[in-house]
Formats: sequence, C-alpha cells, structure tokens
Amino acid sequence: MGNGTVGVGGLKCKCGKSALILHPASGQPLCKKHFLRYIYKKVLRESAKLGILSCNKITIKIDKFNQIEARIVAEALKDWAKRKSCPLPEFDERGIYPLSSEKVVYLALRAFYELDKYSYELANPQLSKNPAYTLLPFEVAVYAKIRGMQPSNEYGKGPLWEIALDVTTSQTTETYNVFKILDNLKLLFPVA
Ligand SMILES: [Zn+2]
Repeated sequence: MGNGTVGVGGLKCKCGKSALILHPASGQPLCKKHFLRYIYKKVLRESAKLGILSCNKITIKIDKFNQIEARIVAEALKDWAKRKSCPLPEFDERGIYPLSSEKVVYLALRAFYELDKYSYELANPQLSKNPAYTLLPFEVAVYAKIRGMQPSNEYGKGPLWEIALDVTTSQTTETYNVFKILDNLKLLFPVA
C-alpha cells in the first residue's frame, strides 16, 4: 500500500494524513490509525452490548478460521483493558469466538436451511458472545494487509457461502438486518 495514497486518489483522512482506504459503508477516507480505531470501536461497542466488557480476564478462542478477527478483538479489548488497568485478554481454546459478518451470515443461512442448531448458536451473537459479527469482509481484509497476515482459509462452501459473501460485501444494510431478525426466524423455522 506504499504511502497510502495509492487506490484512493490522494484523498485525506479527517486528521490530514493520506487515506489508506475509502470506507464503502460510510464513504469516509481513513488513514491506517483511524481505520484501526474505527474497527476497534465497533468491536468494543458490540462487546459492551454483549456484556463481555468486564475487568475479569477475557479469553478469546482462536482457530484456523478466525485468526484475523480473533486478533482484531484481542487488540481492541487489550486497548480497553490497559486504559481501565484490567487484566489483558488471552487466547485460549475456549472463550468468546470472534467471527466476521460473512461467516455469521453463512451460519445463519445454514441454521435455517439445514435446521442446524449448532450453526444457529454460532450465528447468534448473544449466544456465541461474538463481538466481531459486525466486521465486514473488506475490513478484515484491510486489517490483515496492515498486519501482514494471510487471509483465513475458506470458511464455507457452495451457494449459501456465495450468498453470504455477496450480501456482506455489497449490501451492508441487509447484512445488519440479518442479525436483527435471527430470533424472529427461529420462531418461523424450528431449528432443532
Ligand atoms: Zn487519520
């Protein structure tokens, strides 16, 4: 990405630095620092809503499917914990399981097409305590690029995965609506 002006036509972030990306959802040009601040804020806001933010040590589950989201969540929570003088979060085999929006939408589709209870539990942020569900695919990709990480292995397969990717990549509002109607869908579809 070089000096950051490549690809965004020399646009400047609100702080005056060259923008790294033009945020598609908000239309705002963001430099690296303000992009990171933006996604950390998103994660912290959801963490607060899900009741995760507390001064107890938080453990974050990390596996081959969620390495990037897990690291975003860890950094956001670490920042918060430092400011509050609380124990820093740690990676573990158990704990909250950060998955970004395209994976959550895929799981939601599987839950209701296949009546799969496990997918429903993972797709439901309240049940899975997943503060990363509002992270969009391009945000995860830009973060990975900033940190020099490889994108995760492919998570899903087939038409449901294609729909999930398409919706979360190009239709932000629809993406967020999926999360809002999960509980109502469960009333209509008898997920096991
Ligand atoms: Zn900036």
